[in-house]
Amino acid sequence: MPNFTLQDDVFEKAARLFPTPFHLYSEEGIRTRLRNLKAAFSWCDDFEEYFAVKALPNPSILRVIQEEGCGLDCSSMTELMLAKALGFSGHHIMFSANAMPDDELTCARSLGAQVNLDDISHIEILRTHGGIPECICCRYNPGGEFSIGNFVMGNPGDAKFGFTESQLEEGLMQLKALGSTSFGLHSFLSSNTIDSSYYPLLADILLNLGIRLSRKTGLAFAFINLSGGIGIPYQPEQEAPDIFQIGREVREIYRKHFPVGGPSIKTELGRWVTGPEGWLVTHATHHKEIYKHYIGVDACAANLMRPAMYGAYHHITVCGKRNLPLDHIYDVTGSLCENNDKFAIDRPLPEIRDGDLLIIHDTGAHGFSMGYNYNGRLRSAEILYTCDHDFRLIRRAETPKDYFATLDMDPCYARLLE
Ligand SMILES: *Cc1c(COP(=O)(O)O)cnc(C)c1O
Repeated sequence: MPNFTLQDDVFEKAARLFPTPFHLYSEEGIRTRLRNLKAAFSWCDDFEEYFAVKALPNPSILRVIQEEGCGLDCSSMTELMLAKALGFSGHHIMFSANAMPDDELTCARSLGAQVNLDDISHIEILRTHGGIPECICCRYNPGGEFSIGNFVMGNPGDAKFGFTESQLEEGLMQLKALGSTSFGLHSFLSSNTIDSSYYPLLADILLNLGIRLSRKTGLAFAFINLSGGIGIPYQPEQEAPDIFQIGREVREIYRKHFPVGGPSIKTELGRWVTGPEGWLVTHATHHKEIYKHYIGVDACAANLMRPAMYGAYHHITVCGKRNLPLDHIYDVTGSLCENNDKFAIDRPLPEIRDGDLLIIHDTGAHGFSMGYNYNGRLRSAEILYTCDHDFRLIRRAETPKDYFATLDMDPCYARLLE
């Protein structure tokens, strides 16, 4: 089930201090999850989590990640710029390339970041943009379908990412000839997976792959990178994956292949780290009864795109009404001129009045960061609920000035801001 650790009075207090809508994040929650993750993999030498910046690219959050001894997984120039500005040192930055502009590789190399190549053709680009490093990681795509038991979890064969196995064999030999001496293998086969057998299965796939490739190429692997993909229980009836169990099961698989020694393990979890530790706080502002009953709120899909984009479920509670019967059926909607701008469809909720404070759960990853400006709607503020129970503004809300900033060559620019 979603994360219900914060009580309504916390959200109510925040909403007295800051205008809605905003995303609120729990510092303590994020720290606890990172500590649990590190403890679960403490059996593995040099284990490192590289938090996927795209999940929650706020410097105050990334500082928390840094203080907990974790690195960053970046996949764009601006994400690299964030890592640099925060003083992440090279080996704490993973750069995962994918159809990237060439100069991003140059930038990643100049920071000393660990580069994770997505394709065999990137070897030549990297050679001429920053140079081939001593240690290099390559992303694997096994093709076909990826199943856990009888359940198809993903379709790597349709995914744009990674090398085939024969390309890896060839690419690794090229990299060796160009001077690399240490290698990593990465793969990401299934997103938002709450089945705790995902990481153990992926570890088995990557360790087996490494052993096959070692035999063929004579190369030894320094690490496997299990990437992101561990899911969170967005729905009340779902159970959270147990990170300690996952750590133990990965260890079992690992020890089968490497009773002693062996490559280290890296992760790039985004959603699992911050997803449940964020909430979108919004006021009900309108209600409307036509063929269905609608509650209009002051947030919209520009602040949280997942329901509109994936039909994703986000749990909603109403402050002060958690214990009331869910005897009303509502669509909860934003203000976009776009009918998919709905946070919930046919959702049983307590009776909602204009002015009620609604909490949309599990918005801490791929929430704010997926925001956009359709209809000229502006991105919201982000608030950190600190370990000492303070509320800290960590990003202000956008203003029309921000929205119009890129029109500064237009003759009407000055008048826009009058
Ligand atoms: C998106 C992404 C992640 C994080 O995925 P989550 O589902 O948030 O865990 C990690 N690594 C790479 C390369 C990614 O693209």
